[in-house]
Amino acid sequence: MALGEFELIRRYFSSLGPQHPSVTCGVGDDCALLSIPFGYELALSIDTLVAGVHFPEKNYSPHLLGHRALRVAASDLAAAGAAPLAFTLALTLPFVDELWLGEFSRGLSEAAQQLSLTLIGGDTTCGALSMSVQVHGLISKGRMLKRSGAAVGDLVYVSGDLGAARAALDVLEHPSTIPAAISATFLQRYWQPEPRLQLGVQLRGVASACLDISDGLLADITHIAEASQIAIEIESWKVPINAEVCKNYSSSDALCFALTGGDDYELCFTLPEKNSGQINMIAEAAGCSLTCIGRVVEGAGVRCLDQQNKLLQFDRNGYRHFQ
Ligand code: ADP
Ligand code: MG
Repeated sequence: MALGEFELIRRYFSSLGPQHPSVTCGVGDDCALLSIPFGYELALSIDTLVAGVHFPEKNYSPHLLGHRALRVAASDLAAAGAAPLAFTLALTLPFVDELWLGEFSRGLSEAAQQLSLTLIGGDTTCGALSMSVQVHGLISKGRMLKRSGAAVGDLVYVSGDLGAARAALDVLEHPSTIPAAISATFLQRYWQPEPRLQLGVQLRGVASACLDISDGLLADITHIAEASQIAIEIESWKVPINAEVCKNYSSSDALCFALTGGDDYELCFTLPEKNSGQINMIAEAAGCSLTCIGRVVEGAGVRCLDQQNKLLQFDRNGYRHFQ
């Protein structure tokens, strides 16, 4: 490596993110040290991005990759209701490319500031390009939002709108007639998703179950149904679809993107009906819209209905109606 490992770390991966009083030792020692305030628990989650699997091998912006790597990982803290604290980074590089490192570090640093996560350590190795980001957050003891708390009668909500990140993949795969400015907004949603950290914190003690949508609404919500041993009914016409997706795709493609497309990183949660009066206040405090899209019922699995009460079934290529 042209640039020594330690100089590389010093140049690109020290002092990223805000100062945090709970970080008592950061980058540069054998271990990082976090001091957990009395009455709190430490929430941990790790996400790996591999070149050619989770992002393209060529023709992408390392600046945006820096954003995406941290934002995707931070979304799990949001889903658990954890307040952001710190992160570590394990980076595997095929060779030292200072242009790449400068841009990746710039994106990571911007995201770290925006999300209030401090880089406290990591590992740097040589090999095929990949990165793992482990995020750390704080939750008051016993208040974590889990997937297992949904109960029959609860309402199902989703934050923001869905489908734009899936549309970004469509734009990449089929450079099409969609105007450049609109493609750019889709791509922004893919590369710079907004982890709903404020919302996660607001939902503590209010929502009964919660997760973030990484694989697609219908796929992910199955995890709540399984963990909570209940069934979920989604009223497909209530699902908030991104307005530009609606304008630029057929209604069936738009619905399919919103229900089955991943990468939006919105939160989906269940709420006991008695707490539904708090929804507007929570949406305002979290700075995002919240839409009721269904209900928890007895049984198992996830059912998605259209307005005529017909079951919608989806596959990778679209959807079919079933009686
Ligand atoms: P060790 O050999 O003890 O594992 P390293 O030589 O791997 O330590 O790393 C030296 C210091 O630099 C450690 O504090 C480690 O956490 C930090 N570090 C290594 N790689 C990264 C990285 N990609 N981002 C942030 N910190 C890093
Ligand atoms: Mg090491």
